[in-house]
Amino acid sequence: MPEIARTGSCLCGGVQFSVAGEPRRVGLCHCKDCRKTSGSAFHAYAVWPLQAFETSGITSTYGARSFCPTCGSRVPFVGEDEVEVTIGSLDVA
Ligand SMILES: [Zn+2]
Ligand SMILES: [Zn+2]
Repeated sequence: MPEIARTGSCLCGGVQFSVAGEPRRVGLCHCKDCRKTSGSAFHAYAVWPLQAFETSGITSTYGARSFCPTCGSRVPFVGEDEVEVTIGSLDVA
């Protein structure tokens, strides 16, 4: 069976990425940092292993959050062995 691949981007399209297979975990966080950074009531995210992730484009990082320096959209944050993707940045088929 072919593995599911999902693509995503920031609002301006300067950052493109893809993730393969199913996420390790999915969550909602409504801590103060996530409310501040998203400007919303909570932050919806999913985590993939690093080897399932590919990206292109320039990103900036603040703490454990990455964003597009042009449009300010949240983009995947790359950790040591996994990547956290904001669910809303994924393309909807
Ligand atoms: Zn952008
Ligand atoms: Zn949080």
